[in-house]
Amino acid sequence: MSYPEIISRIAAAAQAAHRNPADIALTAVSKLQPWSAIEPVLAAGQTVFGENRVQEATERWQGRREGLELRLIGPLQTNKAREAVAFFDVIETLDRPRLAEVLQAEIQRVGRAPRLYVQVNTGEEPQKAGIAPHDADAFIALCRETNKLVVEGLMCIPPADEPPGPHFALLAKIARRNALTGLSMGMSGDFETAIAFGATNVRIGSALFGDRATHG
Ligand SMILES: *Cc1c(COP(=O)(O)O)cnc(C)c1O
Repeated sequence: MSYPEIISRIAAAAQAAHRNPADIALTAVSKLQPWSAIEPVLAAGQTVFGENRVQEATERWQGRREGLELRLIGPLQTNKAREAVAFFDVIETLDRPRLAEVLQAEIQRVGRAPRLYVQVNTGEEPQKAGIAPHDADAFIALCRETNKLVVEGLMCIPPADEPPGPHFALLAKIARRNALTGLSMGMSGDFETAIAFGATNVRIGSALFGDRATHG
């Protein structure tokens, strides 16, 4: 799909859900994409990009990030926290107490705080990152009260083999009862459904840029 087509499908999905299209931001997921695919989207005015890996992101965007918002959407190892805090505007994958502690220490050390999303493993899949839904309230409270972190919202990646709607609904419910306004949910295959369930950020890669390189 072209960039304008994605933008108009987001707007149409918003209107169908009686929502303001301006309340839904597109994160263009540029991981594993060649620069030749990214450049036209950048030239068309897209300013928000998502990356899975700290090192790949710094290699791609270092020196050309002026005016952009860069979001980490892949799992974060504690030994990469320093680099991630220094580089990203948003970290969407806060999902365990140890990481909250390390982020807090690093944010205090450098005096720079990326905006934070807690990743929830709504499908409770063992291979997937994210806090379990029944631990989410306590974890959000820990982040806020013990680690003094400002949490902006929640993020999820529903199981590939299930209808995504119930997962989006669950994430929205956890956000609501914790007074969180950001909902990062919806990818190439399900962003319109996510918008119907209240997504404020959709993360779109392959539908926008084409298939990724299969390695990595
Ligand atoms: C890769 C990725 C996406 C984009 O997936 P597409 O299906 O290509 O749109 C979105 N979110 C996360 C967390 C990802 O890792």
